[in-house]
Amino acid sequence: MNIFVHRDDLRIHDNRGLTAASNSDKTVPVYVDDPRVRGVTGRNKRAFREEGLQKLRQKYEDRGSGLIVEKGKTREVLPELVDEFNAEEVFYARSYTPTRREIGREIQSLDVDTKSIGDRLLVEPAKLSQEYDTFSPFYREWKKTKKAAPAEGPGKLADVDSRTPEMNTEPTADIPEAGEDAALNRWVKFRRKKMSNYKDKRDDVANPEYVSKLSFYYSSGMIGRRKVLRDVKDMMNSESDSHARKNYAKYRNEIAWGEFFYQVLWHDPEAVTENYKDIPNEIEWRDDDEEFEAWKNGETGVPFVDAGMRQLVEAGYMHNRLRQNVASFLTKHLMTDWRRGARFFQRHLADHNVPSNNGGWQWSASTGTDSVPVRIFNPVTQGRKYDGEAEYIKRWIPELRELSASDIHNWVEMSQEERDSKDTGYPDPIINFNQRYHQGKQMFEKALNR
Ligand SMILES: Cc1cc2nc3c(=O)[nH]c(=O)nc-3n(C[C@H](O)[C@H](O)[C@H](O)COP(=O)(O)OP(=O)(O)OC[C@H]3O[C@@H](n4cnc5c(N)ncnc54)[C@H](O)[C@@H]3O)c2cc1C
Repeated sequence: MNIFVHRDDLRIHDNRGLTAASNSDKTVPVYVDDPRVRGVTGRNKRAFREEGLQKLRQKYEDRGSGLIVEKGKTREVLPELVDEFNAEEVFYARSYTPTRREIGREIQSLDVDTKSIGDRLLVEPAKLSQEYDTFSPFYREWKKTKKAAPAEGPGKLADVDSRTPEMNTEPTADIPEAGEDAALNRWVKFRRKKMSNYKDKRDDVANPEYVSKLSFYYSSGMIGRRKVLRDVKDMMNSESDSHARKNYAKYRNEIAWGEFFYQVLWHDPEAVTENYKDIPNEIEWRDDDEEFEAWKNGETGVPFVDAGMRQLVEAGYMHNRLRQNVASFLTKHLMTDWRRGARFFQRHLADHNVPSNNGGWQWSASTGTDSVPVRIFNPVTQGRKYDGEAEYIKRWIPELRELSASDIHNWVEMSQEERDSKDTGYPDPIINFNQRYHQGKQMFEKALNR
């Protein structure tokens, strides 16, 4: 008998670890709800994961097996399960983040044979010829590196009764349905209807259907990445229009961004909490608590930023263009330490993923992998460019619904009298925009000795 330990791979299809275990012997599927992982997971992601576990259990039961979910520390729970099922070998998917690696080492030290299988990434960091600190060269090698085909299976599953503790985390946001079937449905719809426009339309923030919203499912491993990549390749190969092919290729490029950030943390685990870049001097963060509160509540008086923050809290998700803008605004204009923003994202995102969140924050804060030394987004011009009609802003900020798009985009630049005359109940900008742009820039330049 084997045990397969699910981690961030809550699916039975295209699951290389499960396939390897169940091809070699009858397999008992297990999930350990370890406090170290639970402790760094916000309610929305926890609720999404718990629903995913229920769906996974159903999948096993449909196949005459069951899922054993146990709460507790991996090093304490797993030896008991090994004894109970008289297991000869324990299989699990390799992971690349510090906490998961620590848990992986505990699995390896069990008194039975253990096997870690590469499943999470299409290209494992150790397969690359070097460490990459910028994306483009990473992507060149990533594209050329051979990738496994989707895994068949699962094979032989043990006839066990499911065992799941009470799992009733209530999400604070309106999150999507979890599970492998929901993931697949979403992928099929997106691939058929929208992917041929992905590159052209992904930044059209008012039309959220032009992005896949698969991040929920990738982050909890409810869809196999090999399957996705194979589908993308099939579409590219059967497409005669070169423009459409470029749109498909852009999707592959974004998938690789997620893998790039895993590679960063695998080489440099300290970057979870420390600046990734060597910055010669301390960054003298302003860290004003009132400004941070306003940012969290979507009440900074900068409509594009506030709309993003309200989407985060209400939907447990935010469009990528907005993630970049709110992160840049917090770190550059409000001069607040990126770690505070990253923690707030971690608490609310149902698609939270340590490498992408950390990588995205550090990129936006100019402490990470961006090759531009100090990049500062202007959320006013970004709003005009990517949400011209202010539809996205109006969706998330009801106070502004009666205003014209140009008034919304001019909000920061309008006079106080003009804002008062609109009588919206929406706040005035909490900072002097231009002054802060320069102060923020100076703060980074000083830290960088520029
Ligand atoms: C400050 C900040 C924090 C972020 N935090 C997270 C996070 O916790 N979890 C997370 O999955 N992504 C995070 N991202 C990356 C990105 O914003 C999301 O992956 C994307 O918005 C998810 O929406 P989607 O699935 O519709 O994306 P699509 O546009 O449909 O992209 C498809 C997939 O490609 C990957 N991807 C796309 N863009 C990026 C990117 N910039 N970096 C890494 N992977 C990418 C994701 O897996 C995504 O699901 C963050 C970005 C920033 C700037």
